[in-house]
Amino acid sequence: MSTLSRRQFVQFGSLAAAGLLAGCGSSAGSGSGDAADAGEYTLVEEGKLTCISNLFFPPFESMNESTGEPEGFDIDVSKSLAEHMGLEVNWLPSQDFDTLVPTIKNGGKADIAIAGMTITDARQAEVDMSDPYVDSNQSIVVKAGSTETADTLNDASKKIAVQGGTTGADWADENIPAAEKKRLSTIIDAMSGVQSGLYDAVVCDLPVSRYQIKMSYSDLEIIEEIPTGEQYGIAISKDNPGLTAAVNAALAEMVEDGSMAAIEAEWFGAEL
Ligand code: GLN
Repeated sequence: MSTLSRRQFVQFGSLAAAGLLAGCGSSAGSGSGDAADAGEYTLVEEGKLTCISNLFFPPFESMNESTGEPEGFDIDVSKSLAEHMGLEVNWLPSQDFDTLVPTIKNGGKADIAIAGMTITDARQAEVDMSDPYVDSNQSIVVKAGSTETADTLNDASKKIAVQGGTTGADWADENIPAAEKKRLSTIIDAMSGVQSGLYDAVVCDLPVSRYQIKMSYSDLEIIEEIPTGEQYGIAISKDNPGLTAAVNAALAEMVEDGSMAAIEAEWFGAEL
């Protein structure tokens, strides 16, 4: 199951040669990259980058209505990552967001979770997170024309919908403590619930609420943008540091060769 793509092999070879030439192979890890880690990684299926996500988080990930295939910003990032790594991409069925980190930690099922996932200390204690590839913030969404504010929502009679296990759920717990929180498995359920009057507001990532209001929920509005300064990263098992190094190298190449800018333009235009 161990895979060494041609590019990785070349990289490993040249780093090893550099170590030999310097006559200090054992101190190769003293710089920013560890030669052995950067060179080798395992994959659950040979030749494939197997990906998991919660596919109800447009425009980062969703299922195409006619084909049922995954699509979105993260899907395109995964395809480009795989291409840059000399692999094919393999998407597994959607699973709840709060099961993604445990699945990657347990190993054996998927190589990466790519899910608009904020890099947090709690997650980094469980898995490795790649370098950041998207900046994000939080938002509070209500029915258009509602007079709610973050203050009026902080009341025991108010229901705030969040997606379980997310940074939006954490923000609502900390900053709107008096309101009742409804933990749902997708942000779509949360938005539909605000639309139908089941909940008073939803707290979720700003790029997602902006996109959803524009595309599907014109009767909802954002009453507050919250500058949490989050950054999304890709979750990878701590047992596979070579894969994290390879993903980071591929992400850097995608920025350099314009692939990332093309994906941003495709899904967000000038908005991101
Ligand atoms: N960025 C948020 C988090 O990491 C939400 C991610 C999501 O719902 N897919 O918690």
